[in-house]
Order: sequence, then structure tokens, then C-alpha cells
Amino acid sequence: MAHILDGNAIASEIRNQVSARIADFTLRHGELRLAAVLVGADPAARLYAESQRMRCLRAGVKHDLIELPDGAAQADLLAVIDALNADPAVKGIVLQLPLPNGFDTAAAQYRIDPYKDVEGVNPANIGLLFYDVPIIAPCTALATLELIERSGVGVRGANAVVVGQSRIVGRPISMFLTTRMATVTGCHIATRDLPAHTRGADILVVAVGQPRMIGAEHVKPGAVVIDVGINRVAQPGPDGQARWRTVGDVDFEAVEPIAGAITPVPGGVGPVTVAMLLRNTVEAAFKQLHRTL
Ligand code: NDP
Repeated sequence: MAHILDGNAIASEIRNQVSARIADFTLRHGELRLAAVLVGADPAARLYAESQRMRCLRAGVKHDLIELPDGAAQADLLAVIDALNADPAVKGIVLQLPLPNGFDTAAAQYRIDPYKDVEGVNPANIGLLFYDVPIIAPCTALATLELIERSGVGVRGANAVVVGQSRIVGRPISMFLTTRMATVTGCHIATRDLPAHTRGADILVVAVGQPRMIGAEHVKPGAVVIDVGINRVAQPGPDGQARWRTVGDVDFEAVEPIAGAITPVPGGVGPVTVAMLLRNTVEAAFKQLHRTL
């Protein structure tokens, strides 16, 4: 049976370390303020913003939620980002996704000051990953790396396979593992014979957004399996009514008996990602004092 990498416990440990750092910043330099920008009325984005707000407040970070109405235009959003960039009291900026149809997400992310980009989504920060010196790295990639390191597997020389190659999640994870000297294979929609690749992985990271696409036939016995995917699926309950459940991209029940270590969904990468957002926020605030890498 696999060692279960408990994201909630690891996140709580990281939050404790980060709280001390936040208290240190606040004592020496004043309030630590994060601004989250929400455009339109997407219920999932609002729910995420609210839970992020609670986490921030508990950790001693002030949290401003700035809401733009459904009818807002890209220019309005850019004007808000410019104002937050220019406000020295604001130490971090989060752009809640998804933006409504018609918005250019990448252009908005590009507009965020790289030193205030606490999610690490500005192309400047993603690009600096190539040099292994990001000002701020993407939270999900940081969380994935943390979980891999906590599994005890040696990254140097390991075969790592990353399924899903999005700009913010899959590719940054691949880059992190490459700079740590794993031999990395990036699988994507055009990959032929996915199991042939994944079965060779000592470290398997899956970040696609397809419920339970990875089964036992994809996994080498003893592999470390990190499931980034978050999917809501309907399952019939005992009364025949559909019940919503959150599952990952990995079929946990099938893979857990053969993996060496595995993250559950929920309770794996997700909470560690939120803890990394807090860590990025305080580290960003310190970096803004001197604007150094
Ligand atoms: P994207 O949709 O941006 O990217 C998904 C990637 O998977 C793309 O590269 C896509 O390729 C690729 N892909 C699609 N189908 C296949 C397939 N059959 N085989 C291999 N690759 C495939 O999603 P994100 O990267 O933003 O997120 C991925 C998942 O992670 C989602 O479930 C998301 O909810 C979750 N997530 C979880 C976080 C956490 O904290 N736990 C944080 C962020 C995301 P192509 O572009 O060519 O279609």
C-alpha cells in the first residue's frame, strides 16, 4: 500500500512556518496586504476567493477583494491592476480565474508587477524558471515539488513523467524537475501510447483535468504519484439522486495499492498550493523592499 502524502498536514506545517515570517514582516515593515481581483459572477471563482480570504486573515494577511461587474472590459481590468501595481501598501495581487469570455487572461497576467505576482503567473516569472531564479514561482508547481520532496524519492537521476503541459501548471513542474536533474518526459494531448511513457516513471505527476484518466496500468510499482487534477463528478447516491464528488486525474482506489506514495484528491496538492500562496505573499513583500531576485 502506498504512503499517503497528507496535503492538509503538510499545508498546516507550512502555514505555521509562514505565520512566523508574516509576523516578522508586519512587525518590521507594517501591514501585509493582498489584493484579489474578481471579474464577473463566476460562482467557483467567488468561492475560491472567499476561502482564500479566510486563509489569509487567519495567517495575519489583510485581504482586499476587488470586484468588477460582469459588464467590465479588459481596459477596466488593466486599470485596476495598474492601480494595485502602483500602490505601495499592496504587496500581492491575485487575479481570480476564470475571467469572463472575451477577456485576454495572459495579457492581464502579464500586466501584474512580477514582484507582486504572488501566484507566479506573469510570463516574466515563468520565464525565469528556465534560469532557476524565479522572483516568484507558480504555487501549484511549488506545491508539487514540496510533495515530491516529502515523499523521500531522490529527484536527481529519477525518471519523471508530467502528464499535462499547461503554461501555468504542467510546464513549470517539468522545468522544476529538469533543473533538479530528473530525466523528464512531458506528455500531452498528442502523446502516443501514454501508458508506455508513464509506466517508466519513478515520479508521475498528472495535471490534466480528466477524472481518473490514470489507472493501475499507467503506474510502475513503487512510483511516487502526484495528482494535481481537480474534477467534480456526479455519482448516483443510495437514493438514486446524483451526488457531486471531487476526484483527481488518478483513479486513487486502483493506483494506491501499487504506488510507493500518492496524493489524495481532495486533501493533496490543493491545500499545499494555498499554503504556497501565503508563502509567496510574504516572500514577495520582502523582495519588494529591495527588488532583488
Ligand atoms: P489546462 O486545461 O490549462 O491544461 C491541461 C493540460 O492537459 C493541457 O496541456 C492539455 O493539452 C493536456 N491534456 C488534455 N487532455 C490530455 C490527455 N488526454 N492526455 C495528456 N494531456 C492532456 O489545465 P491546468 O493545467 O490549469 O489544470 C490541470 C488540472 O489541475 C485541472 O484539473 C485543474 O483543476 C487542476 N489544478 C489544480 C490545482 C491545485 O491546486 N490542486 C491548481 C491548478 C490546477 P492541450 O492544451 O493540448 O489540450
